Amino acid sequence: MSNQIKRKIVKEIKVDVDKCIGCRACEVACSGFHASPKYSSFNPSRSRIRVVIDLLNDVYVPVRAGEYTPAECSGRHSFKINGKQYSECSFCPSSCPSRDLFKEPDSGLPLKCDLCEDVPALAVPMCVQVCRVGALAYEEREEEREEETKLGEMEIGLQSLINRHGLQKILDTVARMAKKG
Ligand code: SF4
Ligand code: SF4
Repeated sequence: MSNQIKRKIVKEIKVDVDKCIGCRACEVACSGFHASPKYSSFNPSRSRIRVVIDLLNDVYVPVRAGEYTPAECSGRHSFKINGKQYSECSFCPSSCPSRDLFKEPDSGLPLKCDLCEDVPALAVPMCVQVCRVGALAYEEREEEREEETKLGEMEIGLQSLINRHGLQKILDTVARMAKKG
C-alpha cells in the first residue's frame, strides 16, 4: 500500500468559554434548525449543543454533541474550575447509556452535531450566528493529510501472491505464461 498526500477542508467551531454568558441562544437556534419542518419548534433538549451552566460559580461551557458511544467509558477524571470540582461527564460531548444528554427526547436516538447539515447556503452554522458575544467561532481551513491509497482487487491479489512467492517468481511465471500465450 502507498501513501498519498490529500488536501482536505477541516471545519470546526472554536469555543471561548471566557466569553460565554450562558444565554443558551445557541441551544434554541440549533433545535429550531433541526426541527421538522425547520423552525417549527424550539426545544433545547433536542439541541446538539448544550451549555453547562453553573450560576453560582459563573461558569458557562458550551459543549457540542459528538459521537454516540454504546458503552459507558471508564474515565473518571474530574476538572477543577475556579475552585469547583466538575466530573468528567460534565463536559463530555458523547451520548452514552449512562445519561440523557444528546439524545432525542422522544425516541432516545443519539444526536450529533452535523455542522448544520453542511448546508452550503448557510455560510456560518446557526449556533455561531446567534452567539452575540463571540464565544463560538466557525473556522474552515485546508490541511494536507497523508492517506493510505486503497488497492484495487487485482492489486490486492497480486500483492498477496508476491508476499507468498516473492516478486521474482511471479515475474518469471508471468513471462513464461506470456511466451506460451
Ligand atoms: S449563544 Fe454564545 S453566549 Fe449564549 S450560551 Fe451559547 S455560546 Fe454561550
Ligand atoms: S453547528 Fe449546527 S448542528 Fe452543530 S451545534 Fe451548532 S447549530 Fe447545532
